[in-house]
Amino acid sequence: MKKLALGYVSCLPQTQLVTKFLEELKNERLMGTRCRKCGTKYLPPRAHCKCGSEDVEWFEASHRGKILTYTLIGFPPKSMSKHAPYVVAIAELEDGSRLLAQLTGVTLKTLRVGMPVQVASRPLSKDKIVYEFKPIEPSCGCAKRS
Ligand code: ZN
Repeated sequence: MKKLALGYVSCLPQTQLVTKFLEELKNERLMGTRCRKCGTKYLPPRAHCKCGSEDVEWFEASHRGKILTYTLIGFPPKSMSKHAPYVVAIAELEDGSRLLAQLTGVTLKTLRVGMPVQVASRPLSKDKIVYEFKPIEPSCGCAKRS
């Protein structure tokens, strides 16, 4: 069987941790690692903590969180060029971990720091998957007017 890879831009090295992360993502579980020494959480998972420890354990992260910061990407890598401009955001999830992902389902008018989002994953093809943020409540009814 082919290994599952992250869609669009493969920014993650294909380690065992990433393979498990992507497999769990397929089952709509968001799995990260937590350092047993200092408690720092990594999402997507990492085998080495910034404190120098390699003693990490799995945890399941919340699917809900709030936007901490975002940026509008106007000149993306080639694989994403047909989606530009798009928004990439960092959200703090309810369990305290942080995740960077594309934010979809928003307009520049509705976009704001602190907006509640949920993490959604969807397969792009048999062997590719993406995860993204979506607003929890549709904060505007103007989507069809464009
Ligand atoms: Zn640590």
